[in-house]
Amino acid sequence: MSQGTYYHGRRDQPTVALTFDDGPNPPRTDEILEILASRGARATFFVIGKWVERWPDGLRRMLQAGHAIGNHSYSHSRPAADFDRADAVIGNLTGMPTRFLRAPYFDYSRCGQSAVAMSSSVRTVHCDVNPSDYLPRDPDRIVSECLRARSGSIIVLHDGAEHDDKRLARPMPLVAALPRIIDGLTSKGYRLVGLDEMELVEGEELTAFASSPR
Ligand SMILES: [Zn+2]
Repeated sequence: MSQGTYYHGRRDQPTVALTFDDGPNPPRTDEILEILASRGARATFFVIGKWVERWPDGLRRMLQAGHAIGNHSYSHSRPAADFDRADAVIGNLTGMPTRFLRAPYFDYSRCGQSAVAMSSSVRTVHCDVNPSDYLPRDPDRIVSECLRARSGSIIVLHDGAEHDDKRLARPMPLVAALPRIIDGLTSKGYRLVGLDEMELVEGEELTAFASSPR
């Protein structure tokens, strides 16, 4: 069995994890990488296998920048069971097996069909802060939702989209909001870390959850 589902890290450590789903997605992902680099922030990217096949250099740039990588399925269908196929595609570039997994739409009903999802070395990572940046959102609102994070929070954001026709436009409010998200969290004393640096705590404890992420 997998090691359970994690919504957040330790509440007694001033760390926050930014997680970006649905990439790699050039050039939006690169805009996000640039903002992260300009502020010395680390993050985790839950990538889609079909996009890694199309844009392998997009994943390579995440790796070169030192960010953590998670498995967000191969096709981003609902419910997803193709985590093993994504693991092969992602692992071919990272040289590492899946360590963190997040199901599309947080629908875990088919995870039992995936050896990777059921592996004892894989952690399924939910979130406790969801600003629903995949909906048409004002950047100010994304910022204010993200700043509700507290110690140990895991924030779900989107650098891409599951469909070609949305992938360039949808992340634009987030790209506009991200500098203020990072600066706001940093000024509150939080260090932005990859999930591989965060001590995850099992159990559900939601901080700011608008609706189910994609
Ligand atoms: Zn997604």
